[in-house]
Amino acid sequence: MSRTYIPVALRNVVYERAKAACEYCLTPEMITFAPHQIDHVIAEKHGGATEQDNLALACIQPLTDIGRVTSQLLRFNTPERISERRLLYELLKSGIKFD
Ligand SMILES: [Zn+2]
Repeated sequence: MSRTYIPVALRNVVYERAKAACEYCLTPEMITFAPHQIDHVIAEKHGGATEQDNLALACIQPLTDIGRVTSQLLRFNTPERISERRLLYELLKSGIKFD
């Protein structure tokens, strides 16, 4: 969880960019028990800035140290990976099978 106050306007930018889904695992907020939160991709304690490119909407799991490290190692939060997962999600929603 972020320690620094994040202005509402910046939170809204991140939330809208993420389309209300976790930007690490794409879990929609509407199917979780707790609201997603704004996460610093590079933690503040490691010099991560409070700016749009270093913020991600995240479900609870990536907010743990293990989740954050895993996300960074697997580069879940790069725009390319997010686009790939969104495409896969849309294909799965359309009923396509990968047998
Ligand atoms: Zn997630």
